[in-house]
Amino acid sequence: MRYISTRGAAPALPFDDVLLAGLAEDGGLYVPEFWPSLDAPTLESFHGLAYDELAVRVMAPFIAGTIADADLAAMAKAAYRDFGHHATAPLRQLDTGLWLLDLTRGPTLAFKDYAMQLVGRMFDHILKRRGRRVTIVGATSGDTGAAAIEACRGRAAIDIFILHPRGRVSEVQRRLMTTVTDRNVHNIAIDGTFDDCQDLVKAMFADRALRERLGLSAVNSINWARVMAQIVYYVAAAVALGAPARAVAFSVPTGNFGNVLAAYGARRMGLPISQLVVASNANDILHRFLETGRMKMGAVVPTLSPSMDIQVSSNFERLLFEILDRDGPAVARAIVAFRKDGCLTLEPSAWREVRTLFDGHREDDAGTLAAMAAEYGASGEFLDPHTAIGVAAARARRRDAVTPMVALATAHPAKFPDAVERATGLRPSLPARLADLFEREERAATLPNDLGAVKAFVTARVALKGAA
Ligand SMILES: *Cc1c(COP(=O)(O)O)cnc(C)c1O
Repeated sequence: MRYISTRGAAPALPFDDVLLAGLAEDGGLYVPEFWPSLDAPTLESFHGLAYDELAVRVMAPFIAGTIADADLAAMAKAAYRDFGHHATAPLRQLDTGLWLLDLTRGPTLAFKDYAMQLVGRMFDHILKRRGRRVTIVGATSGDTGAAAIEACRGRAAIDIFILHPRGRVSEVQRRLMTTVTDRNVHNIAIDGTFDDCQDLVKAMFADRALRERLGLSAVNSINWARVMAQIVYYVAAAVALGAPARAVAFSVPTGNFGNVLAAYGARRMGLPISQLVVASNANDILHRFLETGRMKMGAVVPTLSPSMDIQVSSNFERLLFEILDRDGPAVARAIVAFRKDGCLTLEPSAWREVRTLFDGHREDDAGTLAAMAAEYGASGEFLDPHTAIGVAAARARRRDAVTPMVALATAHPAKFPDAVERATGLRPSLPARLADLFEREERAATLPNDLGAVKAFVTARVALKGAA
C-alpha cells in the first residue's frame, strides 16, 4: 500500500513515511492509493473480537508490513489498556433504534485519544527504528493539546511542546495538560490568544534552519494515521449492531472533518453505512454546503462547542479528492480558488451524489442546551455540548426508523461542566481515575507572545535534554 497526495504532485510514499511527514510536500493530504476491502465474510469474522484485536485487523492493510504484525498488536493492546471500559468504545441505547457510541473513555476524555494513543506509539516505534528524534510543536485551544501530550508523554524519541493561550482554556482542559510532568512534556502558556499561539507555531515551522536543527514535527488532524485509527470504531459499532447483515447510520459532531471522513473511508471499504449526518454548531459552513452544493467561508463565532468552531475543515480535501474522481490537479485548483475567493461550488451531479450518503444539520447554542436538557430528562444521560449536537442531528435527520442510528459521543460531559449545569442544573463528576485532577501539581512556563522568546525556550529545553 502506498499513499498519494490529494493534489497529485508529491511522490507516493509508504505508510511509515506518511506517518512522519503529515502534510504532503505539494500542500495536499495523503490518502491510500486504493481502499482495502472489508467484504461480508471479513466483517463476519470480526464478530466477538476485542477492540484492540479488531483494530489490528482493520489497520493491517493500510500499514502493509511497514510495522510488523506483532509490534502493531502490542501497540494496540497498550494503547487501549487503560481506557476505562472493557469494550473500549461502548454503545448505549438512548431510544428505539438510537444509540450513543461512547468515545470518551481515553485519558483526556475526548474521542481524539482513540487515534492519538496509537499514533504516538507508532511515531515512537518508527523513530527509534530509524535512530531519529523529533520535537513536536503545536498550539491548542483545548482538546487536541491534551490528547497529544498524553500520547507522547514518556516516549524516548519525542519532545513535545504545546502552546496554549494563558487564561483562555477551561480549567479541566488546562489541567489535563499541565499536570503531566514527564520530562519530555513542555507546556507553554502564551500571553495572547489561540491565534497568536498558532501564528507562533507556524512561524517556527517556517524557519527552515530551526526546523532541521530541532527535527520539528506535528501530530495534527491532517495526519493520515489519525483518520485510519478512527475507522476502527465505526467498524466495531456496525459489527456490534449486526453488520454485515444490517446497515447502520452515524451522526458525527464535526469540526475539521477528520472523524466523519473516517466513516466515509469505512464505507468505501465495504462497511454497510447507509447515511452519515454531519452535525455542526453555528459555524455551519458544512451544513450550508450540503444544503446547496456551495461552500462559502464565513467568520468563526465562539460557541459552547469550541472544538467545532471552525470554518475551513482541512480534512474535507480528502472527500473532495474522491468527489472529483481522484483528479489531483482539479483538487489543487478548487482549493486555491477557495482560499482566494472563499467559495467552492460542486457540479449539480456531484452534489447529488454526495447527498445520497451525507446529510447536514445545525444547532446553535440554544438548541445545544435544549438537546442536553431533553436527553437528560428522557434517558438520564449527561451529554457534553459537542455530543448533544450530534444527538440532536441524529434525531432530526435520520432517514428511516428501521436502520440503527449511532450518534458519536466525542467528549465527556465533565469536560464542560458549566454548560452541563446550565442545561440540567447538575454538575457531572469526573471519572474516578481523574478525581484528584484539581489537587495535582501543575507545571507550565509562561512566555510573552514573542517568537524569539519561544524559539529560545524550545531550543534550550531540547539542548538540555540532549546533554542529560
Ligand atoms: C475535535 C473534536 C470534534 C471535531 O472533530 P473533527 O474530526 O475535527 O471533525 C468534535 N468534538 C470534540 C469534543 C472534539 O474534540
